[in-house]
Amino acid sequence: MTGNWKLVIHGGAGAMGVADMDREKESSALDGLDEAMAAGGAILDSGGSALDAVEAAARVLEEDPCFNAGRGSVLAHDGHIELDAALMDGATRRAGAVAGLRTTRAPISLARHLLEHGPHVFLSHSGGDAFARTAGLEQVENRWFEIPERRRQLEELLAGGGFDDQMKYGTIGAVAVDMNGHVAAATSTGGLTAKRWGRIGDSPLIGAGTYADDRAAAISATGSGEYFIRAVATHEVAARVRIGGEPLQQALDAVLADIKALGGKGGMIAVAPSGKMAWGFTTPAMYRGVADASGRRVAVYPDDAAR
Ligand code: ASP
Repeated sequence: MTGNWKLVIHGGAGAMGVADMDREKESSALDGLDEAMAAGGAILDSGGSALDAVEAAARVLEEDPCFNAGRGSVLAHDGHIELDAALMDGATRRAGAVAGLRTTRAPISLARHLLEHGPHVFLSHSGGDAFARTAGLEQVENRWFEIPERRRQLEELLAGGGFDDQMKYGTIGAVAVDMNGHVAAATSTGGLTAKRWGRIGDSPLIGAGTYADDRAAAISATGSGEYFIRAVATHEVAARVRIGGEPLQQALDAVLADIKALGGKGGMIAVAPSGKMAWGFTTPAMYRGVADASGRRVAVYPDDAAR
């Protein structure tokens, strides 16, 4: 054991500008990030696994209505909420992923159950919820996930006829390295407001929004999912490190630049088995935080020094 651990989390990248940012909301979101880091950090600090830590941090953020994951998620076009999540263990490269859930309270824990017990890696829609029921995971009414602000956003968007491009994304993610030098990644989201036709974003796709490999890093993404899928973003960061020998920050920046060139935007967080971390975003801001044995720090805007 090295005694060194690190937890990095995000609460979504977005187009929130300083002017239209509701200060009260921002401070609640930052409290939520801190609480999530406290939960994950306690596990890592007592020698627990990166996998347990990222699941615990993600659970806190799924329950927090400030974020677009679990309760507080955005609404799909038909007014329902459909949840996507994924979890990956860098030591074994085992993974669990779920998409389009409507009744499972803790999507990330269903992904964890799948990672542990299989037999499949990725389940979607009613089949995912059915599997959660057989696993004994708590089920709730779809309305339980809804908060009035998200209903209003959907109505506004439908009235304007557009999609979610200028809105804050709000997906959550966590990456960690534990005292044994193993990494893990978790991402959970409600996706994009007014998504249709069973749309699945990058977050639950292993290699797009979520990836972990002890030979490189654990990475979680947020942003315009369609572009992150096309760039196979998180796997691309890991591949640049593992095969190309690039420093983690450089690899992450290069992939975000590539996505930007395609027309997409967003952010990523990453941590390597060495404890080295990286993050970046091409939106005006990204809720994020880092915790290690020396304490916990949160940041929102580009110049917030939390590293
Ligand atoms: N990447 C997510 C998606 O496309 C959205 C987000 O990051 O908030 O579903």
